[in-house]
Formats: sequence, C-alpha cells, structure tokens
Amino acid sequence: MPEVQVHETIASFRAALDAVRREGASVGFVPTMGYLHDGHASLMRAASADCDVAVASIFVNPLQFAANEDLSTYPRDLERDLALADAAGVTHVLHPSVDEMYPGGPVLTTVSVAEITERFEGAARPTHFAGVATVVAKLFSIVGPCRSYFGEKDFQQLAVVRRMAADLSMPVEVIGCPIVREPDGLAMSSRNVYLSAEQRAAAPVLHRSMLAAAELAAAGERSVAAVEAVVADAVAAEPEAELDYASLVDAAALAPASAVGGEQRLLVAARFGRTRLLDNLAVTTPA
Ligand code: AMP
Repeated sequence: MPEVQVHETIASFRAALDAVRREGASVGFVPTMGYLHDGHASLMRAASADCDVAVASIFVNPLQFAANEDLSTYPRDLERDLALADAAGVTHVLHPSVDEMYPGGPVLTTVSVAEITERFEGAARPTHFAGVATVVAKLFSIVGPCRSYFGEKDFQQLAVVRRMAADLSMPVEVIGCPIVREPDGLAMSSRNVYLSAEQRAAAPVLHRSMLAAAELAAAGERSVAAVEAVVADAVAAEPEAELDYASLVDAAALAPASAVGGEQRLLVAARFGRTRLLDNLAVTTPA
C-alpha cells in the first residue's frame, strides 16, 4: 500500500505543508492532471531529490478546457497515480473535487498573461492559458513557498508559469525539466492513450522530423522556413497526421525567429484524428 497521504481538502493539504516548513524543511511541488506516466514521475523524482519534502496535486482543471474539448473523457486512475507518486518519493498529494477548488461555481478572479500566450497553443485554444495560470496561481497560493517543477513538454506553459510567478512576485521557484520520451521518440503524454494503433505508429514522426530539422540547422542552414519545412513536409507525408504548427522561436521570449542562430526552440503541434499532440526540441546553433 502506498504511504503517500491524500488530501481531499485545501485546508488539510495547506496545514500539512505549513507543518513541514515549520520544521525547517523545503517543499518541492509538482502540479498534474493525473493519469501519471514516467514524465510526471521524472518531475516528482527531481522534486524529491532537490527538496526535503516532495508533494503533488492531481486535479483535472475544468477552467483550462474549452467546451468542445475532452474534459469529461480525460483519463483518470487515482490508485495507480498514488502508487506512482509514492514510488517517485511524493509524500502528500492534493486531490480536490471541482467543488473544493471552485466553490460557488464560476470564478470571478482569473489570471491572464499577455503576449506569450497569444500564439501557438493560445491561438489554437484561446481560453486555455488563463485557465492554466488561474489554477497554478491558486495552487501556488495553497502550497506556499516552494520550488515547483514543470515539464518542458509543455514549453509555452512553462514560459507562462515562469512569467506569472515573476510578475506577481510569487514565493515559488519555477523549474523546467526535460521531456521524457517513449523508446521510439514519442513524448509521453496522458493523451497518448487516445491514439489508435495506426496513429500511435505514426506519432513518432514529430520527434523524428524535429531531429532532422535540428540537424539541418546544425549543418549551417540559416533559413527559418527551410528548417520548419523539414517538420511540415514530414508531417504532410504522414496520412494519420495533420500539422497545426511547426515554428522556430526564441527559447526565452517565444518570439518567432527571423534567422536560425542562438538559443532557439522548435515547437510543434499536430492532430492525429481528434488527438492533438505537442512536442518541442532545443535548437542551439552559433548566433
Ligand atoms: P499534465 O498532467 O499533462 O498537466 O502535466 C503535468 C506536468 O507534467 C506538466 O508540467 C507537464 O509539462 C509535465 N509533463 C507531461 N508530460 C511530460 C513528459 N513527457 N516529460 C516531462 N514532463 C512532462
């Protein structure tokens, strides 16, 4: 049986973490929507390696889903999640109901981050990042001073959370962790379970084509369009996939690149049937 303590209420989770800090221990926090996989576990292992106490939340946040999205079908398996969190060194999990997080219906107070939310995922999902920023702000306020771990898998989300924490002087150090992949290169995601066998077989095209694009950049290609076209062409040649975007951006500001060079990131989103997959890769070349 996992030893991890599960808190259904904000008050009980907050009290447990306040007690931890009173003992002089540091807190590492990993927010998740559950249906955990090794990508989540890597964040939890990083939190428990860096901090005295590692804690997590499991909450499928309705605010970050649009009406036509998969809120009601989002995969869930609490028992399995608790065993995985426990094995990764987590000692306390907040698992609140929607009513516990949002009593009294719609929230009147939301957090929105400008500019870096406008493109890419923000363009495809216009209400998504306000939903993410609001729930993460709320979770940071519940958890209190901590280090908090986010995956580079959701690269734009990481930038949004970093910026929010800095702009609002939240007492949280935001730490980005590398993408964990399946052996064939597909980035782990709770939503991979939606893929049919054919879509699953096709999905590694994203990582494979990004590697080829990064190689082209490393070989001296300076045209952004040429680098992005490596991904766009490979995805176009894959009947199971439809590209949403393949964009080379500045890794810090997420502004579209005008030339290849420096610390950049290739961001990709593509649909496989009704499932949208995200991936990204560092592209670092002499400026
Ligand atoms: P989610 O449960 O999808 O909201 O994800 C919770 C956290 O896990 C976010 O910070 C994600 O970026 C991170 N994450 C999800 N998949 C991966 C992965 N394959 N590698 C690393 N981090 C991940």
